[in-house]
Amino acid sequence: MPGRHFLHIPGPTNVPDRILNAMHVAMQDHRSAAFPDLVLPLFDGLKRVFKTTTGQAFIFPSSGTGAWETVLTNTLSAGDRVLAPRFGQFSHLWVEMAAQHGLNVEIQEEAWGTGASPERIHAALAADTGHDIRAVMIVHNETATGVTSDIAAVRRAIDAAGHPALLFVDGVSSVASIDFRMDEWGVDGLVTGSQKGFMMPAGLGLSCFSLKALEAGRAARRNNPLRRSYFDIDAMAASNKTGYFPYTPSLPLLYGLRESLRMIEEEGLENVFARHRLLASGVRAAVTEGWGLQLCATEAKWHSDTVSAVVVPEGKDAVGVIARAATRYNLALGSGLSKVAGKVFRIGHLGDLNELMCLAAIAGAEMAMLDTGITITPGSGAAAAQSVYRAAG
Ligand SMILES: *Cc1c(COP(=O)(O)O)cnc(C)c1O
Repeated sequence: MPGRHFLHIPGPTNVPDRILNAMHVAMQDHRSAAFPDLVLPLFDGLKRVFKTTTGQAFIFPSSGTGAWETVLTNTLSAGDRVLAPRFGQFSHLWVEMAAQHGLNVEIQEEAWGTGASPERIHAALAADTGHDIRAVMIVHNETATGVTSDIAAVRRAIDAAGHPALLFVDGVSSVASIDFRMDEWGVDGLVTGSQKGFMMPAGLGLSCFSLKALEAGRAARRNNPLRRSYFDIDAMAASNKTGYFPYTPSLPLLYGLRESLRMIEEEGLENVFARHRLLASGVRAAVTEGWGLQLCATEAKWHSDTVSAVVVPEGKDAVGVIARAATRYNLALGSGLSKVAGKVFRIGHLGDLNELMCLAAIAGAEMAMLDTGITITPGSGAAAAQSVYRAAG
């Protein structure tokens, strides 16, 4: 199809030309004396984005799923109890991984369209007087439903219970798009990846450990630690200290990350968050005020600034909308995962995006819905979003 492909799934996101060009490099010797000049600043840059001064960041060649495994296996022991709210496909998958590693997962089911409940977390931790629960695992931004949980409130709940559990947070679809404060929120294990807010291809599993998490890992090592080899952070940390990796790193991705961090710093992290909020507000206005449809997120407090899951009317099929958008309008919308398959389509609005790109996605979704027999007023979504964008000045 001629013209641009409109990629509006919630990851991978558009890779800006600057990053594409930065990744177009000849291979180099990753043991050379010059190599640390590339590598060492990446850790500092990541820590600024994560808002941590004391945490230790890791870059593994993997997708975000590998970073999930990095955080779990380097901190816990077999049979450890962990508490995990579950409210969407990604929280579901992380729980599954924890169970596969032999952790004893206490699941807190929450309705899809809602998120982590600080009250229930507080209650579970307060009831755990023996302090058996080693960690609380939360997906900050549930990409399947377009729900953002309040991590600061979860931290307050843990503290109010006087409980020493570690706090692990999946920020794969929030970090570098939605405010994330590792130190202030007392996050002990942060998980993210390169292909969402960082505007890169998939391939870097990014994680960050608090001092408390590093200490927990050392203690676990003395006491039946979870098995790991490739994702062991000790070998990684030993090489990283001088700006190297224990094995061959993906050079193009490291150059891409350097450019990504530069772009984020040039725009300003807070401006990046504000832009995502504005773009998301326009999309939400299109869905609710323009089309008169509902978001999967049940209340405004859950609204995600990186992805909106749009519920199609009863009896209509979201799969058809997505197919029509792809084949006729060259627009990629996100599909409904698992429980919400066929019931929602998702508009990703994160990464390298502006108002007109979001308007294109809205217009395309609008046409695809009309074409597949969903009754909405033509132009209504785009008009509602335009009002939001114009009012922003
Ligand atoms: C995309 C995503 C992941 C998984 O990342 P992969 O890179 O596909 O392994 C995990 N959690 C959340 C919330 C995500 O959005």
